[in-house]
Amino acid sequence: MTSTHAHRASFAVGLLLLAVAGPARAQQAAPAPRSAPLTNLRYEITFDSTTAQTRTLKVAMNFDVAGPGPVLLSLPAWTPGAYELSFFARWVSNFTPVAGEKALTWDKLDYDTWRVHPAGAKSVTVRFDYLADTLDNAMAWARPDFALFNGTNVLFYPEGRGTAFPASVTVKTEPSWLVATGMQAVPHQAGTYREGNYHDLVDKPFFVGRMDYDSTQVAGVWTRLATYPAASLTGPARSRAWDEIEKMIPAEAAVFQETPWPHYTIMMIFDSAFGGGSALEHTNSHVGIYNSGFIGSPILASITAHEIFHAWNVKRLRPADMVPYRYDRTEPTVWLWVSEGITDYYADLAIVRAGLITTEQFLGVTGGKIATVAENPPTALEDASLSTWISPTDGSKYIYYQKGSLAGFMLDVLIRDASDNRRSLDDVMRELYRTTYKAGRGFTGADWWRAVSKAAGGKSFLGFAAKYVDGREPYPWAEILPLAGLRSTTDTIREPRLGIATAQDSTGGIVVAQLMPGSAAEEAGLRTGDVLLALGDIAISDPDFGPRFRARFGSEEGQPLPIQVRRAGQTITLNGKIRLVARVENRLEIDPGAPEKAARVREGILTGKTGR
Ligand SMILES: [Zn+2]
Repeated sequence: MTSTHAHRASFAVGLLLLAVAGPARAQQAAPAPRSAPLTNLRYEITFDSTTAQTRTLKVAMNFDVAGPGPVLLSLPAWTPGAYELSFFARWVSNFTPVAGEKALTWDKLDYDTWRVHPAGAKSVTVRFDYLADTLDNAMAWARPDFALFNGTNVLFYPEGRGTAFPASVTVKTEPSWLVATGMQAVPHQAGTYREGNYHDLVDKPFFVGRMDYDSTQVAGVWTRLATYPAASLTGPARSRAWDEIEKMIPAEAAVFQETPWPHYTIMMIFDSAFGGGSALEHTNSHVGIYNSGFIGSPILASITAHEIFHAWNVKRLRPADMVPYRYDRTEPTVWLWVSEGITDYYADLAIVRAGLITTEQFLGVTGGKIATVAENPPTALEDASLSTWISPTDGSKYIYYQKGSLAGFMLDVLIRDASDNRRSLDDVMRELYRTTYKAGRGFTGADWWRAVSKAAGGKSFLGFAAKYVDGREPYPWAEILPLAGLRSTTDTIREPRLGIATAQDSTGGIVVAQLMPGSAAEEAGLRTGDVLLALGDIAISDPDFGPRFRARFGSEEGQPLPIQVRRAGQTITLNGKIRLVARVENRLEIDPGAPEKAARVREGILTGKTGR
């Protein structure tokens, strides 16, 4: 998952220890609940212009009962990748089990498990409504002409019966509406999809409704792009998105040397009221939700590269703690800094290697991550990974993204330095992918550090792990950067500052949310609730607003600044004055005098090449 604002593990380990250390006398544990065996599972989801009015998915689950006892049906507590407990049973209503015309009796076994008594019936249908009212990539969301939903939201599984059951999913909708999903379509049965096990059933979200939907071959694989609302990503902006996708996938596939999916579906929702951008990965698709302002921005390419890289790193190559996924509880791991942070490092690498951003932009993004880590409380990568499930409030909540990315960058530099640029972090990722995922298992700490050490010619990373992964020591940039022909400079920049915090309204307008006491904005008479239209002759909607504003007004203290706002339906202009404020910025840059070996390491990182 990735998010521009900021994510989420655990007491299970403690409980386990208690259980193991418990009294030696035999204790009779209650048997785990187990459903009657079910076969021939078929789900049917109806979303059309009628159900859209109540933002409801009408779900029917059909199955045959293949043994005695009650049927126990559960819904997941979370969607893998979104490391937080949501309990999708919350959005269920009108639960109704029937056998033919006959209503069956039922009750709840626990908060996310329904118990149905089939009373001898062989074939059962369970119907319920699912409220699709949450704009979140792990959840379900409906508009008058569209719905997003995940299998975790609506597909019940028989409790205690494992995940190895096949099932079909049929989507019923308006004839003119489209369906986009990574799920495998059943030939000659329009609207019906089938997967061989529950993991795949819940890993392939759906878009249903009016949308723009097209496809092309990328790296020999059919790649599809589904975007909502219709006409939100069209013309040159869509061509640009496709161009970026066609360039970034080969740069990522080069790391693993294969693209192991039959087709890949990129699903995007643009919404002017959504704050920032957030996306969630799957094995052959991802769902991104973005503020409309992301269209055409390098951030959209970066998040797309992050999510596609996840198809290898976390959906396939995955920490052993999360193999297999289980849906009824948290799965804490200390390895999210690899699964998320190093994925983020590779998103940066993919787009610079593909030529979608410049070297300077890559260094800018990396310097920005260093600044973000510096601004947060010192937090160990392992602790941040574990803690994500409880959303810490001290600022460290998602720090394993930026700090994990930087740890990946340091390891890349150290491996390339130790091997005279013959090997890199790419070798570590590829080796683990082959020796763990391909062998049908997750990776452990021993696997990880063995692969790192091997790539670096046998160099030990025990100290590195203790200080920078388990520990909270600051990263040693003064030692690391010169090995890659880089240096960092600290500049003090004087820049114009209004002294406001802003928010975005439902139409994309920039609204004054807060005024700093004594600020230039307060002096000019700006009020909270004012919608900013222009500063001087520069429109707020200008995509280059920030740089243009700094260039135009960044030199002269006290310069007049007309501020155009909309207040109570009227456009008015306030007379402000420019105030310059000093800000310290850490910048990464190329060291032109770097030794030849360090320059090669740097070029290797930027191009993905190893060797001389
Ligand atoms: Zn991610």
